[in-house]
Amino acid sequence: MIWAITRRCRDCLHTACVDVCPVDCIYEYTGDDRQTFPNQLYIHPKECIECGACEPACPWEAVFRVDKVPPAFQDDVALNARVKEDPGAFRPASHTEKPTPADDEVRANHAKWG
Ligand code: SF4
Ligand code: SF4
Repeated sequence: MIWAITRRCRDCLHTACVDVCPVDCIYEYTGDDRQTFPNQLYIHPKECIECGACEPACPWEAVFRVDKVPPAFQDDVALNARVKEDPGAFRPASHTEKPTPADDEVRANHAKWG
C-alpha cells in the first residue's frame, strides 16, 4: 500500500480522484457501519498500481503517500486496507459532479481535521 485517502475527504467526495484513476481502484463503503466507515472514499491497497494520479487531482488534498500521512490521520490508512479485507462491503466509486472547492473552504477543512 503506497497511497491512502484520509479524513479530509469526508463529506467532500469531489471524485476527481475517481476520474483520473486508471484502474478504478477507489471504492465507496456500502455497509451499515457508518461509525467505522464515514462518508469518504478508500483506495484498494492491492488493486492500486501506485501511479499517484489521484494525489494532485484531489482539490481537498485528502490523498497521501502512506509514509507521508500526518499523525492525526494515521487511523485512516487502516480503513483503506479494509477494502481488501471486506470486499463485499465496498463497491467502485462512481463520479459525482461537484464544484471545485474555494481556497477558503479547503483551508477550513484542513483546520477541521487538524
Ligand atoms: S478527490 Fe479527494 S475529496 Fe474527492 S473523493 Fe477523491 S480523495 Fe475524496
Ligand atoms: S495511485 Fe493511481 S491507481 Fe492508485 S488510487 Fe491513485 S490514481 Fe488509482
